[in-house]
Amino acid sequence: MRRYLVAGNWKLNKGPAAGAELAQAVSNLLQGRELKGDVLVCPPYVSIPAVSAVAAGNPVMTGAQNCADQNEGAYTGEVSPSMLKEAGARYVIVAHSERREYQRETDDSFVAKINLIHQAGLKAIFCYGEKLEERKAGQAQAVVKAQLEGVLPRLESADAYNTVLAYEPVWAIGTGETATPEQAQEIHAYSRQVVGDLLGATVAEHMRILYGGSCKPGNARELIGLPDVDGGLIGGATLKAEDFVGIIDGAEAANG
Ligand code: PEP
Repeated sequence: MRRYLVAGNWKLNKGPAAGAELAQAVSNLLQGRELKGDVLVCPPYVSIPAVSAVAAGNPVMTGAQNCADQNEGAYTGEVSPSMLKEAGARYVIVAHSERREYQRETDDSFVAKINLIHQAGLKAIFCYGEKLEERKAGQAQAVVKAQLEGVLPRLESADAYNTVLAYEPVWAIGTGETATPEQAQEIHAYSRQVVGDLLGATVAEHMRILYGGSCKPGNARELIGLPDVDGGLIGGATLKAEDFVGIIDGAEAANG
């Protein structure tokens, strides 16, 4: 049985004060509840200590949205996984489609980052997914396979506990358009098959594969209830405590 993970990607929103306030509001709504899964919020770097301080002692963990592909040295503006760990992060998102697009990040850098994340004792959330034109051309599975094959076999110590996958069809991110349950389940099951081929059947069976793309309280239960969907990586809807907790409620109901 895979434990669900509901992860909020706050993107470029919520500085330390606003982030702590949002984390506190989420904590208050979850107070006294024993959850069946894991809950994570990923604020901007500078808000990680403030959010982690609020999260200490409650079920909400803190993560980062990115990290350097080097551990230290002359890399102006970068933040390493070990620094993120010291600041309170437990997970780091890698290869989000916005970074693939705007920062032109490549597989080599994803591999370097995830290896450093693992060396620091943190968990990586590796994002992948096809663009609209690729889906329309019938290439969704081929794109997803290439993205997984470009990174997973090159990792030094990936297993089902230090690595989480996040299938995020680019056409569904921030657009209000969500993959249908059939589309999501198809790619998730296919991804699990690819992971099995690359890392072995046991890893594939236990590795969590999150869905991301306009997930909200109204569709969370159905999506997270799909056989190969083990939670969500969510952007916009996690900026309001009630909506974030509504998605957690959906995950709880789906795992009931
Ligand atoms: C994301 O940023 O990973 C994401 C899925 O965003 P949204 O939920 O806003 O579509």
